[in-house]
Amino acid sequence: MTVMVPSTTPATSRPVPLGRQALDSALFQFDQAADHLGLDDGLRTMLATPRRSLTVAVPVRRENGRMDVVQGYRVQHNISRGPAKGGVRFHPATDIHEITALAMMMTWKCALVGIPYGGAKGGVAVDPGALTTRELERVTRRYVNEILPLIGPEKDIPAPDVGTDEQTMAWIMDTYSVNAGYSVPGVVTGKPTTLGGSLGRAGATSRGVRIATLSALGRDPDGVTVAVQGFGKVGALAAQYLSDAGCRVVAVSDATGAVADRGGLDVTALRAYNKESGGLYGYRHADALTHDELLELDVDVLVPAALEGALTAENAPRVRARLIVEGANGPTTPEADEILTGSGTTIVPDILANAGGVIVSYLEWVQNAQASSWSTDAVDDRLRAMMDQAFGEVRALAAAQRFTLRQAAHAIGVGRVAEAHRIRGLYP
Ligand code: GLU
Repeated sequence: MTVMVPSTTPATSRPVPLGRQALDSALFQFDQAADHLGLDDGLRTMLATPRRSLTVAVPVRRENGRMDVVQGYRVQHNISRGPAKGGVRFHPATDIHEITALAMMMTWKCALVGIPYGGAKGGVAVDPGALTTRELERVTRRYVNEILPLIGPEKDIPAPDVGTDEQTMAWIMDTYSVNAGYSVPGVVTGKPTTLGGSLGRAGATSRGVRIATLSALGRDPDGVTVAVQGFGKVGALAAQYLSDAGCRVVAVSDATGAVADRGGLDVTALRAYNKESGGLYGYRHADALTHDELLELDVDVLVPAALEGALTAENAPRVRARLIVEGANGPTTPEADEILTGSGTTIVPDILANAGGVIVSYLEWVQNAQASSWSTDAVDDRLRAMMDQAFGEVRALAAAQRFTLRQAAHAIGVGRVAEAHRIRGLYP
């Protein structure tokens, strides 16, 4: 957990860092949409560039008294349709490029599902698993303090992402509120319900993944085989909900290992094991397999629900799933996308497939603004309606223009943001 010291190895001999790859992929997808929409150069540059980008040094006092300094980021990619919105990621490998890419994806995602937000993302380059709870709290509060001028319920609203959770959001809400002098629940979403969090927010991304999967399947899910890569907040519950819906979840993986059972895994038991032992490694009631084997299994549906760049030009030719539903942001590189779509695989893109999280974040923010609280059913009904609406629009445009679902989703998302820019005009 120390600051990265620049390497002395010449840049040319180093592989492209993952964050840079994620940004290149996001820019590639944006460029395609801009081509489809015929955007002029000025607007193209405007939409490809984040409006605000902040890098901060976060000093943190360790339990042993030592002080470490880690890098933190908050990028507001766009704020034309409303406040910036997006999660905060705690991951040792995160960098400004990755956060910029993820912020851009949030802009298109919010526009696509019709919620009045721009896009943002934050990150701190720490491994939350290597910190004590008190260290984690100190990192969070100090990071929030550094980005304080940027955030607020009308400016930029953080939420959970990889490596952060309800507790992180509670600390963010508290740090912001103490500075304001009064409670400001609407400054974050994905909070505990005691602090104004929404019922149904915790599993919202995964419920959205289920809605997207069943909608893309368009048939009875009974016996449909599924492999889920990533068994974290999104993947574990997506596996559970898909299993509850009648699918046969035959393989799941996390950073510690992968397990499979052709007859179908007991997802409830796996989640309990995972909670107790901190990972899937060592689970005895299924066969162990490698991460690569999971991605290449002969299944109907593959749900990549971990990090960016899981499906690449290298492994895409061996992927046998006919339907891929992107629970993670950016799991498929553009090269892999071309190979997979070329071989007839349908991909439900991230900005549609995992939009359930930010949809219910929006519903939470609305409840906070109204100082009210809705029932789980009311939240779930709105989530379903908004997912169905977005999926219907994407499907219709894809059919009309012979686009892939990804191209259609980006054309809609980018198109709405471009339209907002055009109507607002340029100041001064
Ligand atoms: N981190 C989630 C995402 O990538 C949720 C963001 C939010 O709720 O603001 O969509």
